[in-house]
Amino acid sequence: MIGWERLEGIAARHWHELEDGRIQCDVCPRYCKLSEGQRGLCFVRGRQDDRMLLTTYGRSSGFCVDPIEKKPLNHYLPGTPILSFGTAGCNLTCKFCQNWDISKARDLDRLQDVATPQDIVRAAIASHSRSIAYTYNDPVIFLEYAVAVAKVARERGIRNVAVTAGYVTAQAREELFTWMDAANVDLKAFSEEFYKRLCTGRLAAVLETLEYLRRETKVWFEITTLLIPGFNDGAAEVKALSEWVMTKLGPDVPLHFTAFHPDYKMMNLPPTPRATLTMARDIARAVGLRFVYTGNVNDESGQSTYCPGCGERLIGRDWYKINLWRLTGAGCCVNCGTAIPGLFEPSPGRFGRQRLPIRISDQPHASAKR
Ligand code: SF4
Repeated sequence: MIGWERLEGIAARHWHELEDGRIQCDVCPRYCKLSEGQRGLCFVRGRQDDRMLLTTYGRSSGFCVDPIEKKPLNHYLPGTPILSFGTAGCNLTCKFCQNWDISKARDLDRLQDVATPQDIVRAAIASHSRSIAYTYNDPVIFLEYAVAVAKVARERGIRNVAVTAGYVTAQAREELFTWMDAANVDLKAFSEEFYKRLCTGRLAAVLETLEYLRRETKVWFEITTLLIPGFNDGAAEVKALSEWVMTKLGPDVPLHFTAFHPDYKMMNLPPTPRATLTMARDIARAVGLRFVYTGNVNDESGQSTYCPGCGERLIGRDWYKINLWRLTGAGCCVNCGTAIPGLFEPSPGRFGRQRLPIRISDQPHASAKR
């Protein structure tokens, strides 16, 4: 826990007082216990005047319209644009973080764009985005802001997508996922040792979130595992992870194996070879998972969707661009009629590989300018 100067914030939820006078944050399994003037490991929640505050409400590190495949979600409104944003801070400390400039930010001044929930939803509608992604850093730590935006979005027919590491308590996840329609959950490895050494977290808590999503919600979710050479890319670990997904979540949960690029505190490692991603995909498919993808590399066959009934290629992808569509209007294989799980429309979106940064405060009708 870190001491802090007085900061602005809104009242946070999910905390309680302890008998020793400290207060405990109940948002994530770190359960930070704070004395007056301290903030938690995520840096953006802290205690001031005997209550918990969230200091990043209404302030974002940036907005961008992306293809939904970039989240990655391959079975949820394919080809459509999604307005993506994040704030600052994180509740994990991954040494390989691919967004470390945001997640490790201690200077809250980098939260440039002031945006109310209404501003964000208006920007989503103006950019023809079908969904909003709470991403770049984890919506778990900006839960009150994410939920406020998601409520307005749902009223206006915009869907909500959480991109999360799933490191969240039972109490907080219930609130978060009530407002989410889809999610991509990072399953960073399949060993407690990895989570402990590289992320200072616990694998068991993430597995619990995944089982909860499957068992108790209607949230569509896909899983991403970033394969890091020498750390989590062994065949035995990939097999164990795939078997766990198969057994606990079922064969229809899409699994993405994505390539690591040297970043943050792991600059000394090589990028993941494409052959490793292909090996992992082959293992997961052999275990029985029906939809396994490779990511962060150019691999048209590894990024395409195939019918589990007849093997027909149903959705072809060239990076994030859809170049083949062989689904019926009801989301079934045109060849054999097998239903493909997910959310599909009669035809795919045509957003392609674009990436469109936008500034909310420059949008017409924005509530705040800076
Ligand atoms: S969200 Fe997690 S890391 Fe942040 S204060 Fe709460 S328990 Fe600590």
